[in-house]
Amino acid sequence: MSSTPPSTGNEAQPAVAVSDVTKSYGARRAVDGVSLDVRRGEFFGLLGPNGAGKSTLVEIMEGLRRADSGSVAVFGESPWPRNMDLLPRMGIQTQSSAFFVRQTVHEHLRTVAALFGAETAAVDTTLDVVGLGGQHRVRVDNLSGGQRQRLAIASALVHGPELLFLDEPTAALDPEGRRDLWEVLRGLKARGRTIVYTTHHLDEAEALCDRVGILVEGSLVVTDEPHHLIGTFGATSRLLVPLGRIDEDEAASLVGVDGVTVQGGHLVLETRATGRVLAALDAMTGLDGVQTLTATLEDVYLDITARRPSRPNSVPSTNREKQA
Ligand code: ADP
Repeated sequence: MSSTPPSTGNEAQPAVAVSDVTKSYGARRAVDGVSLDVRRGEFFGLLGPNGAGKSTLVEIMEGLRRADSGSVAVFGESPWPRNMDLLPRMGIQTQSSAFFVRQTVHEHLRTVAALFGAETAAVDTTLDVVGLGGQHRVRVDNLSGGQRQRLAIASALVHGPELLFLDEPTAALDPEGRRDLWEVLRGLKARGRTIVYTTHHLDEAEALCDRVGILVEGSLVVTDEPHHLIGTFGATSRLLVPLGRIDEDEAASLVGVDGVTVQGGHLVLETRATGRVLAALDAMTGLDGVQTLTATLEDVYLDITARRPSRPNSVPSTNREKQA
């Protein structure tokens, strides 16, 4: 694997351009008029509940499924029908990545490299990049879950693709394993790869992604930078006030407080007007011991996905990706 992907000219052209794509399975509309650009060098996260259409959309981008209507261009070319020119430029890691379990790590990756026609020299480099440099002689079936995920990524990477599709690469990893893999993924982005990935870990998407798109029932409801999304969406922050400082009724009557609960040793005040409520608390009891938990991407995600059917207008129109 070369350390940076080759320049292919036309850097302004998106890595992936999806325009008004629709896909149904029988009567079930899995993808419903999605339009989306993934920029070159971007780390793009596709989020959404189970059954939202993420896999179908990604498989259409990869050229593994055919859209019913609309168009997809990867580096300006259609991935469907199977586009042999594009294959070397794409790397695909799925949750059901196949391993040669009786081989060693190095043998496995050499075999994958040979299948792709990649140079054997790329094997050592790629194992270093994913942090398996010290595991060359370990048999694949003796790897930990985290090491297997790294090997799956290495298998998608060994032929030096510019664009990587990663399907929940940190699924089933413990928190430490996830954090370690974050560094691998950040390293890939730093080397200029474009990454499209799906995850159910919202903290991870917030930490890693340049932009995220949230799919709900086949429609792309929003695409934006995580922090911009949190700011403009006006997601709720929580203020934790030690019990005994003010009572629940007083807290609930403060202007800007949307809800009050008791959790552990604290009153928890939900608000979309943090500054205003903090100022009121300061005047009443002082701010010693008051903690502020700012809104996260998870709050925005839950707001969009869980409450959307009853709050159809809750997404600011300025954040919407062009919809057909
Ligand atoms: P996600 O990846 O977000 O969980 P999917 O793309 O797998 O969503 O599925 C979207 C919808 O399409 C779901 O209702 C799912 O049951 C349906 N679906 C997915 N693949 C097939 C298939 N091969 N045949 C029939 N229905 C499918």
